[in-house]
Amino acid sequence: MGQKCRKCGAPITGFWAKLSAIAGVKQSANNPDYCNACDSQSAPIAPVVKAEPPAEPKDLFESESEKEE
Ligand SMILES: [Zn+2]
Repeated sequence: MGQKCRKCGAPITGFWAKLSAIAGVKQSANNPDYCNACDSQSAPIAPVVKAEPPAEPKDLFESESEKEE
């Protein structure tokens, strides 16, 4: 039994993979669970987004300055 692409179900390992390879479908080097076609279509896995810390509220300082007036 060969492994199949999780997305399109194309055989990427085993005997049937040889036939799919003729059609241009191969096991992706980056994502072994997917074929090269689906891997190129899919977006990069888990893009790292750097979360910025929330800015400190300036309301405290502004409210105190108002009290002085
Ligand atoms: Zn696929």
